[in-house]
Amino acid sequence: MSEMTFPRAIELQKSFNEARDWGKDTKFLKDFLLNICEEAGEAWSIIKWIDGEKQKEIIDAHKDKFEDFIGDSIFLVFKIAWMLDIDPAKAYEATLQEYEKRFPADKIKELKHGNPLAGGIDDKGE
Ligand SMILES: [Mg+2]
Repeated sequence: MSEMTFPRAIELQKSFNEARDWGKDTKFLKDFLLNICEEAGEAWSIIKWIDGEKQKEIIDAHKDKFEDFIGDSIFLVFKIAWMLDIDPAKAYEATLQEYEKRFPADKIKELKHGNPLAGGIDDKGE
């Protein structure tokens, strides 16, 4: 049993979908998955091709757009979780546990990142 829960969010998602007669039919699952990519693309377009101080400046000036990205993305994730009867808290907890193993804090502090091709660590246990 997961200690982490998102009960109110799951309840709101269920009510939202049921009020629109949006069932759990998975025929549009691929579209929701692509929709997540679209949201990431919208966020990317805010900072595309810039980095460093200019990127930080643009992020600060358009924080509302990133807030929109977070909301839209969480909505889609909860929508998919509801469609597929997946407990998002359990899935999130499993991911955190997996990442604890893959990216040990002491090693990441030393190596700085999780790209083994560039000197980092990502212990997938392969
Ligand atoms: Mg959006």
